[in-house]
Amino acid sequence: HAKENGRNGYAFYHRSMSMAVEKQQNMENELHRALAQEEFRIHYQPLVNVTGAVVGFEALIRWQHPEKGLLPPVEFIPSLEVSGMIVPVSNWLLAKCSHQIAEWKTAGFWQDGWYLSINISPLQFYQADMIHTLQQAILDGGAELTDICLEITETVAVENIEFAKSRLQSIRELGVIIALDDFGTGYSSLGYLKDLPINIVKIDRSFIQELGAQNNSRSIVEAVASIAQAYDLKVIAEGIETKEQLAIAHEIGCHMFQGFYIERPQEPKQLQGDYLSKGL
Ligand code: C2E
Ligand code: MG
Ligand code: MG
Ligand code: MG
Repeated sequence: HAKENGRNGYAFYHRSMSMAVEKQQNMENELHRALAQEEFRIHYQPLVNVTGAVVGFEALIRWQHPEKGLLPPVEFIPSLEVSGMIVPVSNWLLAKCSHQIAEWKTAGFWQDGWYLSINISPLQFYQADMIHTLQQAILDGGAELTDICLEITETVAVENIEFAKSRLQSIRELGVIIALDDFGTGYSSLGYLKDLPINIVKIDRSFIQELGAQNNSRSIVEAVASIAQAYDLKVIAEGIETKEQLAIAHEIGCHMFQGFYIERPQEPKQLQGDYLSKGL
């Protein structure tokens, strides 16, 4: 009897294993097709300063799946990472973003001093030819290196702090801006803010969304903002969903704001149209 159970157990294990492998393989095939057929889309979410003026945008990837519709990154970035396909997809995105900036400049939409913020995956950050690839993609697309900000998470930076410092330094030397994304969610240490050659800290939305509701969240945001100021960094409050959260983030002294209350991520055409009709 025990032997029978064991066999069934094994058979079940075996079957679900091969199903998982098959699923990942299907996903990878689909992702290859998506890249070849240009099914990926980029949405742009405005970043505003204390006066409410736009200072830039964050580029956020989506997948226009032929059957499933528009998919958010959480549904496919993990597979891109596991398969290594994040590297060619990220290179596609860099080129596309650079073209978009050039197009916006030609259209008279892009303003001096604006920047486009791009999320960098861990695998991409550790590629040997990352600096060269980045430089080439941006310049070939018609944008300038100073139009770009790269967002890296503190988890990536802290994984290999010495490597991260020197890589970030090389990126800085290109004139590219650097933001530390989702700050406060990883092995956060305020000390990293001093050690890393960064320009901007983005306080994670989990803290921002508790502003007004939880007092300790306010103290955390205040602490980050005052340390950041001491190191001459700009602070972005991300994930602002209410008027009250925006008001408190202002009070605390954050420099820039991003969130659904201000504007949702949008398709480029819609964004450009909206701003040109409403004015900036
Ligand atoms: P992230 O870099 O922290 O991006 C901000 C996320 O917060 C975006 O989610 C954005 O839509 C969302 N968001 C903005 N304002 C609000 C708000 O007021 N409330 C709420 N609830 N959410 C808000 P999205 O687009 O789903 O992206 C999720 C994550 O996927 C990003 O987090 C980033 O880590 C990753 N990601 C997105 N695009 C790319 C990409 O091109 N490359 C890589 N490597 N990662 C990307
Ligand atoms: Mg980001
Ligand atoms: Mg973020
Ligand atoms: Mg985040």
